[in-house]
Amino acid sequence: MKRLSRPDYAPEYAYGVCISAIIDEEERNRMMAAIGDIKDTAVNFIERAIAGSTFELPPLIVGRGENPVVVAGIRKSELVRLYEYYMVQRPLGREIYDSILVAAEDSCPTCGGIGHPRSLDHYLPKANYPKLSVLPHNLIPACRDCNTDKGNPLFTQPNEQLIHPYFDQACFFDQAWITATVAHSQPCVISYEASPPEVWRPVDYQRAVNHFDFFDIAKRYSIRAAEELGVLVDQRRSLMKDLDTDSFSAYLRSIGDSPVLFPNHWRKVMYKALAMDEWFCNAQL
Ligand SMILES: [Zn+2]
Repeated sequence: MKRLSRPDYAPEYAYGVCISAIIDEEERNRMMAAIGDIKDTAVNFIERAIAGSTFELPPLIVGRGENPVVVAGIRKSELVRLYEYYMVQRPLGREIYDSILVAAEDSCPTCGGIGHPRSLDHYLPKANYPKLSVLPHNLIPACRDCNTDKGNPLFTQPNEQLIHPYFDQACFFDQAWITATVAHSQPCVISYEASPPEVWRPVDYQRAVNHFDFFDIAKRYSIRAAEELGVLVDQRRSLMKDLDTDSFSAYLRSIGDSPVLFPNHWRKVMYKALAMDEWFCNAQL
């Protein structure tokens, strides 16, 4: 839900770079012979990611221990290894890997900056889409909690598709679709929910909700909010104890309106909710 610029690489570039590090000439030539097919697959993926229809791409589904040829005499395991060894561990591939990781500026796009990206995650899993294993446009910087590689989820319905930070439409990034409510309790608790505008297309509405649920955003946002709230309440009791209700509310709103934070940032959503909550602004906390 946080936009990232698209990696500035031609669709077949990383494949070519990773292959160039293969020492065995026969193996290198065999894999290079598939570069046209790899490029076509990449271009098709990018077009579908822009259209929000990657769910239509058929996954490779094989049984345990099976290792089929997926393109021009190249087996699935060779394409997975191209990522795991030649992109992650060898210098030339790693340069591309690191450039994608660094572009996130230490803020995980998937959970709205709750976590710090530590690795790249495949948007479409490499086990099921091996021809996209080293495509930078299929690689998303992810924090540990958001890295989905372990689960290898496959989404076959349009409304299940997770938000793609490079390609998805502007509404997911530029419009407010996460809201918070303030529980009038001691201690006060902030809870979050996905509630996109009703004018959204049903499929986009459902995708946002699915993304929010899949990555457990409500809980993760709420934990952050609890920490922040502790500090805020403490300030209200000390530094800000002489502020009247309206001034305190205006202070909260100024943080909620800050353009520095993106529209669905946990902090922005929290402060907006607090500013509008009469009980919180009035309460003898
Ligand atoms: Zn994350």
